[in-house]
Amino acid sequence: NVLALLDNRVLVDQLVGAQDDLRHQAFHDPLTGLANRALFNDRLEHAVHQQRRDRRPLAVLCLDLDDFKLVNDNLGHPAGDELLVRVAERLIGCLRSADTVARLGGDEFAVLIENGADDPIRTGERVLEAFHAPFMLEGNALLVRPSIGLAVATSDDANVTASTLLKEADVAMYSAKRARNGTVHMFKDDMHLADSDELALRQDLARAVASRDIYPVFQPIVEVATGRVSGLEALARWDHPVHGPIPPLRFIPMAEQAGLASALGASILDQAMAAFAALPAQVSGPPLRLAVNLSPSQLLDPGFADEVEQLLRRHRIPADQLILEITEGALLTHIESACTHATTLDRLGVALAVDDFGVGYSSLSHLTTFPLQILKIDRSFLVALDSNPEQEDFVKALLNLGRSLGLQIIAEGIERAGQLDVLQGLGCDLAQGFLLGRPGPLETSILSHAWQQAPALT
Ligand code: C2E
Ligand code: CA
Ligand code: CA
Repeated sequence: NVLALLDNRVLVDQLVGAQDDLRHQAFHDPLTGLANRALFNDRLEHAVHQQRRDRRPLAVLCLDLDDFKLVNDNLGHPAGDELLVRVAERLIGCLRSADTVARLGGDEFAVLIENGADDPIRTGERVLEAFHAPFMLEGNALLVRPSIGLAVATSDDANVTASTLLKEADVAMYSAKRARNGTVHMFKDDMHLADSDELALRQDLARAVASRDIYPVFQPIVEVATGRVSGLEALARWDHPVHGPIPPLRFIPMAEQAGLASALGASILDQAMAAFAALPAQVSGPPLRLAVNLSPSQLLDPGFADEVEQLLRRHRIPADQLILEITEGALLTHIESACTHATTLDRLGVALAVDDFGVGYSSLSHLTTFPLQILKIDRSFLVALDSNPEQEDFVKALLNLGRSLGLQIIAEGIERAGQLDVLQGLGCDLAQGFLLGRPGPLETSILSHAWQQAPALT
């Protein structure tokens, strides 16, 4: 029966089609259409066997997006998914068609680089460059930074397996994530240990944040002309029970990466305000101000400005006595939400300071879109102030610019009297540094300085 035969043909076609679909589904990521972990592993196994025979170069690249969790938390999962799709497109766009690009899960991607004509490092750098332009997501220009690790199978290593190669690339990626220096990290043998240490430390950090074992110390901000303490900057400290003091430059990025930065930031803000509010009433002079550093993700938190307002009320601190310090990088990475918060906080009377000014990539024109009150010149522009006339010229120019924009300038990292002399000559308002006071308990950072003499000066 011809009709029945035809029907069968259709059925068989359908079946074959369905089988192809199923096979495709089994080996591809439904969201991005990239290879999935199963297909990646399969190709990697194959490539490793091949490499043993022909000794052609073979490398695995692992990539993970920094702070992806924040995108999901703050812009919602659909936006997070959209970002992953865009990332997949950029990856495909900058790699050769012979390379296998896979999404291993979450925001984790991997690339199998076979018979690479170029150096795998060069491939890694191309991938990095593909992230230089921001991603447009729901009207936000989002700069997304990847951490990239590489592992290369060398021809003299007979023991290399697919799983070790992938593991090594992953370890190298974590090393890149820790360093946050925007470079591709190549796996080295001594990385294994560092990786497990880091994991343990991260767990300790989560506990330390929850139990408030991370606390603020305070460094005075001093009036250059009078020597009077005008404010105090809270700086976070962590005394680890086993490893001793861990520097903030180590644990703050770690908190950021582990999604703990908002909780840590809130805890420091609360503790710093509590200590500040408990200070004895001032005798005279303009009110002392409290400066607190912000992590980038605090700016992404929709409730951030409200939280600051509540804390001010709870601790009975007038808003105009609070300064929030933000690096240019953080401001510009999250420009939309930073602007919203900045406007709200400005209306409250809270001052915003740009921290580490000069080291970032921003131009001042970018910054003028924010309601800023203070610029903190990074230490690196001041270290040779007393010996290098170019630094003096630079600071002079910044001071002029600051004045014309109505900004207060704070010079950071002043260690020698010579630097302070130059600042005095230039008419710089405020300075901070070991010469003027080291970070310490709040009472000492006030008493250790001219604060007590201030009434006499006013
Ligand atoms: P920062 O905000 O630029 O803070 C100034 C850093 O320079 C502090 O380092 C301070 O101890 C140090 N410093 C002050 N005077 C001098 C000096 O004369 N010479 C030298 N060489 N250094 C001086 P610290 O406390 O290690 O903090 C490092 C960075 O960690 C801070 O840089 C800030 O970016 C971050 N940080 C610290 N506490 C917090 C916090 O509570 N939240 C956030 N988000 N970041 C924090
Ligand atoms: Ca600061
Ligand atoms: Ca600074």
